[in-house]
Amino acid sequence: MSVTLADPLPGGRPGEVALAQRLAGDLAAQGVHGVVLPFVDTAGITRVKTVPVSALESAVRWGVGMSPVFDLFLADDSIVSSDRQGGPDGDLRHVPDLAQLTPLAGQPGWAWAPVDRMTQEGMPHHSCSRSLLRHLVSSCAQRGLTFRASFEIEFALSLPGDGPSFVPACQGPAYGATRLVEQSDFCAAGLAALAAQGVPVDQIHPEYAAGQYEVSVGALDPVGAADRSLLVRQTLRAVAQQHGLRISFAPSVLAGGVGNGGHVHLSLWRDGENQHGTGDLRYSMTAAGESFVAGVLTALPALAAVSTPSPSSYLRLQPSHWAGVYRAWGHETREAALRVVTGTRGQRATAANLEVKCADLAANPYLLLTGLITAGLAGVDGGLPLVPEITGDPAGLPPGRAPDRLPMSLTEAVSMFSAWDLSERAFGEFVPDAVVAVRRGEIARTAGLDDAAVAEAYRWVY
Ligand code: GLU
Ligand code: MG
Repeated sequence: MSVTLADPLPGGRPGEVALAQRLAGDLAAQGVHGVVLPFVDTAGITRVKTVPVSALESAVRWGVGMSPVFDLFLADDSIVSSDRQGGPDGDLRHVPDLAQLTPLAGQPGWAWAPVDRMTQEGMPHHSCSRSLLRHLVSSCAQRGLTFRASFEIEFALSLPGDGPSFVPACQGPAYGATRLVEQSDFCAAGLAALAAQGVPVDQIHPEYAAGQYEVSVGALDPVGAADRSLLVRQTLRAVAQQHGLRISFAPSVLAGGVGNGGHVHLSLWRDGENQHGTGDLRYSMTAAGESFVAGVLTALPALAAVSTPSPSSYLRLQPSHWAGVYRAWGHETREAALRVVTGTRGQRATAANLEVKCADLAANPYLLLTGLITAGLAGVDGGLPLVPEITGDPAGLPPGRAPDRLPMSLTEAVSMFSAWDLSERAFGEFVPDAVVAVRRGEIARTAGLDDAAVAEAYRWVY
């Protein structure tokens, strides 16, 4: 079933109550006891409530209560406030999307369904990131514009250690066959669990950094893709635990090393045609495709506070680490923030896409896609021209010849974000205020810490 695009309604959307009753019966018959109801906060932390299967119907009708103050939570669970929001007042109703209900193969006894956050008056909460993305996707569909998206999931596996320590769970070389053998059971169990949940895996492989692996999964509509990125991480975490491992999706697990990216693959489709692979401009982009890329490229510095939102993100964003730290695009260039992916001859019309390499998995995936799509569409609507591509690693260029770097600190990212002209169009009135307050909170929390301490502070939270 594809994502439900309509807003939740008090009492349930038409037909949903009967569906919830039927699904609850099916789940109980499969031995499922509880349903995990996740959402992602401004800091990028996935937080949950859960209900017993018997309360699924009530959750669909009336939602499950949770405070709006989570919009102002930091990654260490401390709470900030702004002039406009924060504090102990109010309640929201978290309403599961039944179309995404999935029994969790890695957590027997549990199912999972992402939520939209609704007010007690039955309106979408102004800062519900999933609702913002749903609304954007719905309004684009009315213009004949659709999108395909997917998040690459990089992670590091650790043996159980003391406290926050990280002990790589493999020793073999980067991308090495030895690493696959070392974590053979985990990798096979991960594939099995994802397959059982209907998640098509493109590949799983050992990566570069200590203990690092990657899973890439099939593309979906944007809301489905963001949901899927949560589901994949929930699943891999559970499978890791079953194998006595700890898993970290943090941007920087060990300061100074290669980090975990959360590269976003995104394509714009108009009237069913992929604008990245059916045109006669560069690399088969259409004019709209090129302008979409240009729009994203223009907004990348401002969006850093969303795509790379953690102090840990800036430990990862190093040149020559394939993290895409330069504000540039290139064809299959792993040092440019935007990599134009054409795919192989014969599959371009369906497979070509734009990869946003700078992003990491501390990002709230709903906010990130909302920002990227808004930026890309502003490029399309303005007919923005796309600058020439780069090739090679800009780190080798003489000073002055390299493209600009993306923000190199969270402080710089916040100031670029605060000046973004599309911020209200993308996120409305309250989300930008929360983003700034939360990022400033993270900056204050890490003031004076050295890089190793920053990596450690965020190692196990994402
Ligand atoms: N680990 C790299 C990053 O920080 C990406 C490696 C790759 O291109 O797969 O984004
Ligand atoms: Mg990778």
